[in-house]
Amino acid sequence: MIDKVPEKAIEKLKNAGVEVTYIPGIEREALLEKIDEYDILVFRSRLRIDREIIDKGKRLKVLARYGVGLDNVDVEYALNKRISVVNASTASCVSVAELTLGLMIAASRNLYLHMSSVKNGRWSKGEYIGVELYGKTLGVIGFGRIGSRVGVYARAMGLEILAYDSRDVSREVGKLGGRQVGLEELLEESDVVSLHVPLTPRTYRMLNEKTLTLIKDGAILVNTSRGEVIDCRALLKHLDRLGGVAFDVLEEEPPRSQHLLELIKHPRVIVTPHIGAETREAMERVADELACSILEALKWQ
Ligand code: NAD
Repeated sequence: MIDKVPEKAIEKLKNAGVEVTYIPGIEREALLEKIDEYDILVFRSRLRIDREIIDKGKRLKVLARYGVGLDNVDVEYALNKRISVVNASTASCVSVAELTLGLMIAASRNLYLHMSSVKNGRWSKGEYIGVELYGKTLGVIGFGRIGSRVGVYARAMGLEILAYDSRDVSREVGKLGGRQVGLEELLEESDVVSLHVPLTPRTYRMLNEKTLTLIKDGAILVNTSRGEVIDCRALLKHLDRLGGVAFDVLEEEPPRSQHLLELIKHPRVIVTPHIGAETREAMERVADELACSILEALKWQ
C-alpha cells in the first residue's frame, strides 16, 4: 500500500490472509526499486502507475486503485500483461453526489461570502443576494453512477434535468422527466452545469475556450469529477459573467500555478480540496469493496 489509507482497509486485507507492507508516500524512485517484491499494489492518485512501474513489478497480479478514477493507471498495458486492475467504483457515489448538491447550494446562495463575513465579525445580510435552484435547469455532463444520482437528488429539489452522455441514457433521464441532449444544447439551456465524466482523451478540456462561451450568463458551474476536464485558463475570462463556480477537483492538486491561484481567489469561486469521497461511510465502503475486488481478482490469476 503506497498511499495513506484508513486502518480498516489494512485490517480487511490482513484478515483475508494478505501480508501487507504499508509505505504511504513512498517516492517513485524508491517504489521502482521495491516493486518486484509485491503481488498486489494498492495506490491512490498520487503516482502514475505507468509502463515502467508495471514492467518492474515482475510479480504483480493486481493493481488496486483505492478510490474510483483510473486515469493515473495504464490500464490497457496492465491488462495486456494479465495484471488485473480493480477499483472501488460504487463506494463513494452517494458522498460525491451529496457534496455536489452542497456545492450547488453553496454557490447559489453565496454561502462562502456570507460565512466568512460573519466569521470576520461582519453581518452581510442584504449583500450577495442568492438565487433559488427550484424550477431551474440542471445540465449533467456524464450521466453515470454519480451524475444520475445528482440528477435524482436535484429533481427532488424541483430542478429540470438535461443530460449529456456518450451512451444512450435517454431512459434513465426520462424517468426524471428530463431529456438527453447534445453538449451545445446542454450548455446553452442550463442554469447549473455539473460535470461527472471520467478523465479520458475525449473529456480532457471538454469545457474550453469554445464551449465555455456557450454557458449562460449567471449560470453556476460545478465540477466534482476531474480538474482536467475544464480549461481553467479559459475559464478565468468567464468568471465575472457566471453566477458561481464550485470545484472539488483541480488539474493540479494542491494548486500552485498562477492561473489556478487567480481562479481560487475570485469571490464567486469555491474550491474544496478533493473531499468528494471523504466521509466515514464512503471510506468504510471503499475498504470493503476494494478488499473484495482484490480477493476476487486473485482467484482469477
Ligand atoms: P461512471 O463511469 O459511472 O459515469 C461516467 C459517465 O460519463 C458514463 O455514463 C459515461 O458514459 C460518460 N462519459 C464518458 N466519456 C464521455 C464523453 N466523452 N462524453 C460524454 N459522456 C461521457 O463514473 P462515476 O463513478 O459516476 O464517476 C464520475 C466522475 O467522478 C469520475 O471523473 C470520477 O473520477 C469522479 N469522482 C470524483 C470523486 C471526488 O472525490 N470528487 C470521487 C469519486 C469519483
